[in-house]
Amino acid sequence: MPETETHNSDKVLSIAQNVARVQERIRQAALRVGRDPASVRLVAASKTVDTARIRAAIAAGVTIIGENYLQEARDKIGQLGRHGVEWHLIGTLQRNKVRYMFDLFDMMHSLDSLALAEEINRRGERLGRCMAVLLEVNVGGELTKSGFEAQTLLAEAHKLSQLKHLQVQGLMTIPPPTVHAEGARPFYRQVRELRERLIQQEIEGLEWQELSMGMTADFEVAIEEGATLVRVGTAIFGARPPAEQHG
Ligand SMILES: *Cc1c(COP(=O)(O)O)cnc(C)c1O
Repeated sequence: MPETETHNSDKVLSIAQNVARVQERIRQAALRVGRDPASVRLVAASKTVDTARIRAAIAAGVTIIGENYLQEARDKIGQLGRHGVEWHLIGTLQRNKVRYMFDLFDMMHSLDSLALAEEINRRGERLGRCMAVLLEVNVGGELTKSGFEAQTLLAEAHKLSQLKHLQVQGLMTIPPPTVHAEGARPFYRQVRELRERLIQQEIEGLEWQELSMGMTADFEVAIEEGATLVRVGTAIFGARPPAEQHG
C-alpha cells in the first residue's frame, strides 16, 4: 500500500475513534447530572479541516458540522452536500455576506448584534425564508467582547421578537480562555441563568431550548451546566495549524 494511503486511512480511523470517545464523554457528563444524553448534540467544529476528514467524521456518526467562515463552508458544502447532515455557522458573519447564508446553513449560532439580526431579517423577507439563530452572549466582558451583553439582551429581546424571518432558538457563548475547564463553569452558569430570565419574560415567538456552549477544553463542564449543543473541533480532528489564528 502506498505510504500516503496508509497515512490517510490511519487518520480516518483515528477520527472515528475520536468521535466515539467524544460521544462517550458527552454521555457520561450528561448522566452525571441526571440529563438524558440525547438532549446534547455534538457539533463537529471543522474550520481548516479538509473534506476527507469531515467525511470520516460523518461516517463515524457526526450529524452536525460547524463552520466559521462563509467561503470555506461554501466550498465544503459544495463537495459534501447538505444531505443527511446539518451545517451550522459558528463564526462571525459580515453584514454583506448575509444573503449567502440562507442557502448554506441550517442554523446560525453566532448572531451577535441587533443590527445583524435586522439585516438577516431583511434578507429573509426578500427571499421568503426564515433563519434559525442562537444569540451569542458576551459573558467575558472586555476579554471576549463579541456578542450581546446580558443586560441589553433582556431589553432587546422584545425587538428581536418583531423580526419574523428570524427564529430565535436559544443562546450561545464563548467564554474567555481559562487554565482549567472548571474556570469556564461560572460563565456557562451565567448563560443558563440568563436563559431562565428570558424564559420568564415569555416573549411571543422566541424560544430558548438551545444552549450552544462548550468546546474541546471544557465541553463536559458545559454539559453539566445545561449545554444542548457542544462545538468540538480539536478532540475530533486534532490540533489545527497555527495559520488559523488570524481568522
Ligand atoms: C474552533 C471553534 C470551536 C472548537 O474549538 P476546539 O477547542 O477545537 O474544540 C468551537 N466554537 C467556535 C466558535 C470555534 O471557532
